[in-house]
Amino acid sequence: MYDFFYNKLLKNCPSKVDLGMSDTDSLLLLVNKPKLFWKHVDPFMDYSNYDKTHPKYCEKNKSLLGYFKDELCGSSTCSEFIGLRPKCYCLKLVDKKTGEISTKKTSKGIGRVAIKNRMTFRQYKNCLFKGKVVRHEFNTIRSNKHKLTTIRQRKLALSNFCAKRYLFCSIHSAPYFSMLIKTKNQKCPFC
Ligand SMILES: [Zn+2]
Repeated sequence: MYDFFYNKLLKNCPSKVDLGMSDTDSLLLLVNKPKLFWKHVDPFMDYSNYDKTHPKYCEKNKSLLGYFKDELCGSSTCSEFIGLRPKCYCLKLVDKKTGEISTKKTSKGIGRVAIKNRMTFRQYKNCLFKGKVVRHEFNTIRSNKHKLTTIRQRKLALSNFCAKRYLFCSIHSAPYFSMLIKTKNQKCPFC
């Protein structure tokens, strides 16, 4: 992943590339020239998940190791992204054909139903920029020495504080002991 990002993606890429988020096998990037960016990454892509009528649909690299898939299948674009903490983010997606807006939300440790029904894109945004913390209460079944009990839990669902990284501003951060961190309370080097 690092080799791909630094040596293949950033080198000679005609578009500015900003990393929004990364996971074991995925990257979320902000690019300012999408057409040039797609041309640059074309040799590393697996377009087999695209609609068969899509001009880019191709099965040549299907399921091959080291090739990337477009998670939005070429059918929608991501208009906004809010990344709060590891495994806690929200995407606002716009369907290319119908213009329909949908969201993809995750929050570690919170049940799927609670995320789907109770959390909104606005809550993620307010949490990032205004620091509004969101907590949720829900019932779960726990097993203790083979005895099942129903418990009521209250958990932190959204928070913009991440103790694992040094935070420069509400958007940019760096790992602790990074060369970018020079003094306490310094100005963000990316803004
Ligand atoms: Zn910044």
